[in-house]
Amino acid sequence: MNQNIENIELLKKGLADFSILVDDLMVDRFEKYRQILVEYNQHMNLTGITEQREVYIKHFLDSVAIFKNGYIGDGLSVIDVGTGAGFPGLPFKICNPNIRLTLLDSLNKRINFLKAVGQELGLDGIDYVHGRAEDMAHKPDHREKYDIATARAVASLPVLLELCVPYVRLGGFFICLKGPSVDAELEDAKNAMKILGVRLVERIDVSLPDQELKHNILVFKKEELTPAKYPRKAGKPSKNPL
Ligand code: SAM
Repeated sequence: MNQNIENIELLKKGLADFSILVDDLMVDRFEKYRQILVEYNQHMNLTGITEQREVYIKHFLDSVAIFKNGYIGDGLSVIDVGTGAGFPGLPFKICNPNIRLTLLDSLNKRINFLKAVGQELGLDGIDYVHGRAEDMAHKPDHREKYDIATARAVASLPVLLELCVPYVRLGGFFICLKGPSVDAELEDAKNAMKILGVRLVERIDVSLPDQELKHNILVFKKEELTPAKYPRKAGKPSKNPL
């Protein structure tokens, strides 16, 4: 088998293992996304990962592992905070075009890249928001408006909770992707969880092809409204975590 076909088979199998119903359009969109990522990456800093197999595993499959647990259902509104080159939000949308997706990042260059990807892939129902998570969470259009907030590789857990939970409606979920330091981060996040009114309801170990280290997905349920003063002003959550 040539390498390209082998990688596409790996992507298809990986998606199916996460209970995703794979079709040709989905696979085409993922490959087109990778090609645009590689092209833009030549003149802007988006990712250190560009080789096909690695992008498929470390960006695409890593992003969508949560589908196995059934949280990303039709019609739900999802915001990806600090989405960068679109992870995990855009892979969510490729796997389930029926979600309403908001991609938020503080770097406008990345937002413009994401708009180009969304257009090239023919994905509609995406809002692109340029701004700091701390600021946008106080806007009525965004505050407690989403069924799900998600984030990968943006900040340590106590900081991330303050940045993301204010976007989630009461009863909704905050889903974050974490590496091997998850136990220590959870310990450090106890105070933030209490202040922000969330409870850890699921912790999922994710195995990915070729990867020795396990990744973790944490699912928090929002059980209380967020006090109006959170998130604190831009920069404060990371300088002085809850
Ligand atoms: N989530 C992507 C991923 O997993 O590949 C990107 C991770 S990248 C390391 C972190 C991203 O978060 C950057 O694009 C950065 O601009 C954005 N970011 C960091 N702090 C932010 C904030 N307070 N508000 C909005 N975006 C932020």
